[in-house]
Amino acid sequence: MIHPLFFILIIPTILIAIYAQMRVSSAYNKNARIGSRGRITGYEAAQAIMRRAGVRGVDIIPIRGHLTDHYDPTRRRLALSEENFHGTSLAALGVAAHEAGHAIQHHVGYKALKARMALVPLTSISSQILPFVIIGGFFFGAAGGIFIEIGIICYFILTLFHLVTLPVEFDASRRAKVELAGLGIIERDEMPGVSETLNAAALTYVAAFLSSLMWMIYLILLRRN
Ligand SMILES: [Zn+2]
Repeated sequence: MIHPLFFILIIPTILIAIYAQMRVSSAYNKNARIGSRGRITGYEAAQAIMRRAGVRGVDIIPIRGHLTDHYDPTRRRLALSEENFHGTSLAALGVAAHEAGHAIQHHVGYKALKARMALVPLTSISSQILPFVIIGGFFFGAAGGIFIEIGIICYFILTLFHLVTLPVEFDASRRAKVELAGLGIIERDEMPGVSETLNAAALTYVAAFLSSLMWMIYLILLRRN
């Protein structure tokens, strides 16, 4: 019943996504237990990094949840999960500095971030449509050709979005490491812990890109068969 291509294209990306998620959890949990010697909090680090970059008018607020940290360009708000907001660990500083990196990207008009922001409305519509497309394709089978066409378009938009996200995420982590070292918040021997946390997070974005790309290819090949 299930097409053999599903096992070749989709199952590996699911496994990669699970692996990436496990890497993030283990890297974060490990480095969240290693306190930085400078004892500066995530909040203070994000504030210092943005101040040095000349970023003004961005609020840093604590939010609930685990790894819910994000920079919201539309509201110009840097949200840090409570453990990273108050925390002084290598993981907390890495995440906080990474989000400050996004605020700097916004401030300097980093092109990939602009492109990513422009793609947000279309991307959210696509991800809202997709469940219906999958259900429709499942029930109508061979007669559901139109669902495959719509699915291909949706996954094309998602693939584009995840592709543009990659330079945005890698650049934010690069800025984070430069700023943490430049401001003396993190010492040289503490950097591997910060890098480990940020690299693991970057892998989840690569996994998301691969997943939407493989789904798109899968549907294109399914249409041809
Ligand atoms: Zn990010």
